[in-house]
Amino acid sequence: MLPDTIACHCCDQIQNLDDIKHGQRAHCSRCGHLLAHRDDNGVNKASAFAISSLIFLFLALPFPFLAFESQGRTQQVSLLESGYDLLQLGFPVLALVLTLFILLVPALLLCAYLSVLLPLKTNRYFPMMYPIARVIFTLHPWGMAEVFLIGVLVSLVKIAGMADIIIGMSFWAYVLFAICLIATITSIDKHQLWNSIDIATGLQRKSPQAEKGSALLQGLQSCHHCELLAPIEQHQCERCGSDLHPRTPNSLQKTWAYLITSVILYVPANLYPIMHTRLLGNDEPSTILGGVVVLWQHGSYPIASIVFIASILVPIGKMLMILWLAFSVQAGHQHRVEERIWMYRLTELIGRWSMIDVFVVAVLVALVQLGGLISITPGIAAIAFASVVVFTMLAALSFDPRLIWDNLSKAEIASINKGQEPLNDLLDDVT
Ligand SMILES: [Zn+2]
Ligand SMILES: [Zn+2]
Repeated sequence: MLPDTIACHCCDQIQNLDDIKHGQRAHCSRCGHLLAHRDDNGVNKASAFAISSLIFLFLALPFPFLAFESQGRTQQVSLLESGYDLLQLGFPVLALVLTLFILLVPALLLCAYLSVLLPLKTNRYFPMMYPIARVIFTLHPWGMAEVFLIGVLVSLVKIAGMADIIIGMSFWAYVLFAICLIATITSIDKHQLWNSIDIATGLQRKSPQAEKGSALLQGLQSCHHCELLAPIEQHQCERCGSDLHPRTPNSLQKTWAYLITSVILYVPANLYPIMHTRLLGNDEPSTILGGVVVLWQHGSYPIASIVFIASILVPIGKMLMILWLAFSVQAGHQHRVEERIWMYRLTELIGRWSMIDVFVVAVLVALVQLGGLISITPGIAAIAFASVVVFTMLAALSFDPRLIWDNLSKAEIASINKGQEPLNDLLDDVT
């Protein structure tokens, strides 16, 4: 018996998933959120892609990634050295951002996937599978392999006029690694992975009795990590062991704190140069907007548009959307609920893509170091901008979208039955 009754992560609506067949997707009947995608070969597919991805990552490490040739002098960089080079040049934050988001997190994610998937293939179980599965879903938003690749392409366009660029074998290995990593993640979803572990353990786990409607109003809460339903009196998830809360604790306070920090950091990120190009002794600083203008003037319209969208439109749009979400929940708004849920999903989806410009700077700094001839160094705005991206991601992750629906539930309860005050008190208590 598998726990096929879950509460939607976005709106807390109880949903039953036991009718989904192979190849089908289940969306929430209230908010449209994708709840599950059943693929009976999910474990096999995901493990094959994870093994391939890890092999390509190893192949991407030792060989040249990119080489830069100007007036007979060549500078080449490998992925393994790039972080170390940035550290040696005196840019530890950039070295950390690059190594963490494009190598360490994806490698850890793949190892975590494999250590759960490979035993599952033979229906074996070991107790650490549950905490490892928790690590997998915590790491998901922080792996940025595909964002880095777009950053590399933008960097190539930026320096194409200055010198000859040679694309190394590691670059192609990294492209294949990124494709296989995305295929791993999309082959098996959260619901199926947790249920597969339950099957391997042989445990007969059953969902508590629940009717259609909000889980909280029926005295139930959903585990943030494994989605198992539990009574609200329970403090620890019996499946994955994580702490249980009906709603993310202090969600609004955390969202406001991260949002205000990112707004403050966004000012220096735009006012100060993101990088300095030193060409034959002349220092040319460029800001984020300045970089877009130069790309546009040089006729690189698609790349200029990508950088403009990723570095200017996305962060501003994301900050405004989080601001509106937090404000509307705090003010108790009950209208335009679907629109706000759509906004929330968009902020979750687009946040990482703003890291493109930071990766562009990291690649250029690691690659273009030809002494007095030409060299590129990062500006203070690179660190400020990387922090903006991280803090806006944290703001979106801290925001609990179920709070949007709770305002609606309070109004419904009040209009249906004035005697149901304990339910409204319950909603007030958790927010
Ligand atoms: Zn929903
Ligand atoms: Zn759990």
